[in-house]
Amino acid sequence: MDPRTQYPKISPPEETHPIPGLDVDLVPKADHGAKTYRGTGKLAGRKALITGADSGIGAAVAIAYAREGADVALAYLPEEGPDGDVVEKILQDANVEVVHLKGNLTDHAYRDSLVGNAANALGGLDILVNNAGHQVAIEDIADLTDEQVAETFEVNILAMFTLCREAMDVMPPGSSIINTTSIQAYSPSEHLLDYASTKAAINNFTKGLAAQAGPKGIRVNAVAPGPIWTPLQPSYGQPPEALPKFGHNTWLGRAGQPAEVAHAYVFLAQPESSYILGETINVNGGRATP
Ligand code: NAD
Ligand code: MG
Repeated sequence: MDPRTQYPKISPPEETHPIPGLDVDLVPKADHGAKTYRGTGKLAGRKALITGADSGIGAAVAIAYAREGADVALAYLPEEGPDGDVVEKILQDANVEVVHLKGNLTDHAYRDSLVGNAANALGGLDILVNNAGHQVAIEDIADLTDEQVAETFEVNILAMFTLCREAMDVMPPGSSIINTTSIQAYSPSEHLLDYASTKAAINNFTKGLAAQAGPKGIRVNAVAPGPIWTPLQPSYGQPPEALPKFGHNTWLGRAGQPAEVAHAYVFLAQPESSYILGETINVNGGRATP
């Protein structure tokens, strides 16, 4: 299969949707692998908490994990119910436990109890996917408020400290934590100052925590997507005029689909990646990375 044409080259309209964007409103539609992902039991019996699991990359990971045999706890914002319902329907025939834990990660009561609630609901926890993310493009630092910077840091990196701390307390040896960083960690867009700096922090945090967790038999790694077509992008994630050419500057010349990213999360969770710790897998259609 030719990776240039395996998925369509999209040219999204210059639209802006309210935050958080919804997959049900996305034009063109994103591909989460619902029709293509075939599991082979790679995660049979595993128990995973996935944040931002209603849409985009998180939804694709949820579909892949469930089809690989994992029970999944899906965390997402209460206003994302329509997308959560779609994922629920797709997962119906996977024959695994699916629980929904809705809340806002800036709400400390919710985030402090999220891992415990997931472990209670699933009867344990051995995979944590930190995937929720907040991205709002602002052209000029003069217009970048402290409130926005704080919210971006709360959702993208501070919540990750909380969830990892709680998870390491309940996870047995053999568990995996997978954090979502970004090409923005190394190649920041000037209109994403706050977002890009959280992503650099996530790469660094991943390596440091991996060194703490490795001796306990817990592997911590990261995935760094490039331009992937998800609702985050047309809901203030990009300047609207950038959307028609979204992803065209990759070596493949097109944006990626969530379905193309999910495999990296499966790989990092499965025992076959046992000797990989503190690593970042870049899934970006071709862009130079360190
Ligand atoms: P998405 O909008 O589908 O997913 C982001 C999710 O984050 C939302 O669905 C929402 O559930 C969650 N979220 C946002 N704010 C939250 C809050 N306050 N509390 C709880 N949950 C909250 O978009 P996506 O692109 O699939 O994003 C998933 C991850 O991938 C993010 O961390 C994002 O930074 C990262 N990423 C995306 C791209 C891309 O091009 N789409 C590139 C690199 C990294
Ligand atoms: Mg969403």
